Amino acid sequence: MKNGMKPQNKGSKQLFKNPILEKLSRTHIAVPLIIFFVYSSGLIYWNVTHTSLSVGLSILMFIVGLLSFTWVEYLVHRYLFHMKTYTEVREKLQYTMHGVHHEFPKDKSRLAMPPLLSITISTLLLFLFRLVLGDLVFSFLPGFLVGYALYLAIHYMVHAYQPPKNILKFLWINHSIHHYKDGDGAYGVSSPLWDYVYGTRTPLSHKEKDRTPVSS
Ligand SMILES: [Zn+2]
Ligand SMILES: [Zn+2]
Ligand SMILES: [Zn+2]
Repeated sequence: MKNGMKPQNKGSKQLFKNPILEKLSRTHIAVPLIIFFVYSSGLIYWNVTHTSLSVGLSILMFIVGLLSFTWVEYLVHRYLFHMKTYTEVREKLQYTMHGVHHEFPKDKSRLAMPPLLSITISTLLLFLFRLVLGDLVFSFLPGFLVGYALYLAIHYMVHAYQPPKNILKFLWINHSIHHYKDGDGAYGVSSPLWDYVYGTRTPLSHKEKDRTPVSS
């Protein structure tokens, strides 16, 4: 997060001068949710019809995929979306990918990646994970993508709706710490699990550990 950048409660930002690029930079949340649902269903169908994996192992790999996603979510948010911006190019890149979300957290059109990009990445992951996992990929990747869809849905709800009056309220509090208190902690959106593992659960514990100057 850029130093001194105040989150705006209203409004939006034009990211590109080119109107087509600008339009592509905005996504309705339902689009990726539908895409990942269809994509995962297709993979599960393939898992059932074209592999000899047992139901038990398939369910296990689905859960492993889901948990793997929460780890990737944490790492990407911490090290890519909040990468150090010591050059102009990096600063622009960081702003386009994530800084804009911190400046306009309530802009609902910028809460998901462009669909074409998410389909491309999913397909790259399919080939990449297939090399490592073989047929296990057809139950692992659905778990991974469902994890991603859950993350998108939770992130959207946290920004678009008031917190509920039940246990799930902690997700709203957790992510508002990241946005409104300290952008260098509470990186996990779908759960605080990996913040506990890496000691970034509270911004304070993270800073004491690093002893880095406060750059936010
Ligand atoms: Zn930051
Ligand atoms: Zn957010
Ligand atoms: Zn962030």
